[in-house]
Order: sequence, then structure tokens, then C-alpha cells
Amino acid sequence: PCHVASIIEPLIVSATAIAQEKQQQVFATIPENLPLIKVNIPALREVLSNIIDNALKYTPAGGNIWVKAGVVFLQSTASKKKIKKNTKPECLDITITDTGYGINSADLDRVFERSYRGVQANTDIPGTGLGLAIAKELIEKMQGKIEVYSPPQSDSEIKTGTSFTIWLPICEKL
Ligand code: ATP
Ligand code: MG
Repeated sequence: PCHVASIIEPLIVSATAIAQEKQQQVFATIPENLPLIKVNIPALREVLSNIIDNALKYTPAGGNIWVKAGVVFLQSTASKKKIKKNTKPECLDITITDTGYGINSADLDRVFERSYRGVQANTDIPGTGLGLAIAKELIEKMQGKIEVYSPPQSDSEIKTGTSFTIWLPICEKL
């Protein structure tokens, strides 16, 4: 059992130091009293570090990175009349969002593949294409889930950024 804040906070400290070089800002929102998570701590640390590293790497100078944690509640659908919503926490989610280059739809389906690099493969941004493959593997091993979202980019080439969400199992008792 572990507090997600104890994993995220040190990562934010080192990300903030790196972000300074590119005048990027890193924000973290971690509510208090989140349920404890049932995870492999070093593995989760590596996953988050890979994703935050990507966010810094694939966001131009002056951009922002947000890390948010929250609770996902079990919605009772059994009897719609006496809905008692938000009763039981189901899992915890962490979302990492950046204002970076975004991921085009062709790359979006493949970013979790081993050794796959997107359009950045043709740039001077270094990488091996392994970070996200490892992340997905580790998250699934702890019965979690990871998804990527990057809004379609318009012809005007407005960069809308990328968002990764991770869902993690929680401990039964708070
Ligand atoms: P490394 O093994 O060093 O992590 P990498 O960053 O290229 O190399 P992944 O982390 O697996 O590999 O990411 C795969 C690809 O997904 C990247 O090459 C990049 O094209 C794209 N990508 C990942 N994160 C982002 C992001 N936040 N914004 C834009 N593109 C991203
Ligand atoms: Mg990477």
C-alpha cells in the first residue's frame, strides 16, 4: 500500500529542475486523502518518469506540463431512482498533460509499440522508442491501464498537446 503523492512529488521536483532550462512549467495537483494504491512502487516510478520525460522532451520552450491525480468512483447503475452516486472509490487515476507537439493519428495507434518512434524520429530529439512500451507493460502487470489522447491537429497547425492517463488499483481499506 502506498501513497501516490510519495511517488509523484520527487518526480515533480526533478522535472521542475529540467523544465527550467526550456522555460517550461510543471504543475502538480494531488488531492489529499486519496486511497492508497496497490502497485509495484519502483515500476510505477519508472512509468511516470518515462511519461514526464516525454512531456518535457516533446514540448517546446515555454510550454506547460500538468500532473493530476484523482479518484474514479464506482457509479451504481442498479437502481436509477435512488442513485447513490460516488459511493465507492473504484480506482485511482493519474493524468499527465502537456502543451507540446501532439501526436498525429497515424502515430497515436503505435506509440506503445516496442521501438516505435513517431515523427520525432526524424528530428534531433533523441530516443529509442522504448519508454512507452515499457510503461504499458509495467502498468498492465500491476492490473492497471494506460491510454493516450492527443486532440486532432487542425490545418492551422495549432499544437494542442498530449495527455496520458493511467488507472491504478487501490487498496480495499483506506
Ligand atoms: P525513449 O525510449 O527514450 O523513451 P521515445 O521517447 O522516442 O524514446 P517513447 O517514450 O516510447 O519513445 O515514445 C514513443 C513515441 O511517442 C515518441 O518517439 C514520440 O513520437 C511519441 N510521444 C511520446 N510522448 C509524447 C508526447 N508527450 N508528445 C508528443 N509525442 C510523444
Ligand atoms: Mg520516451
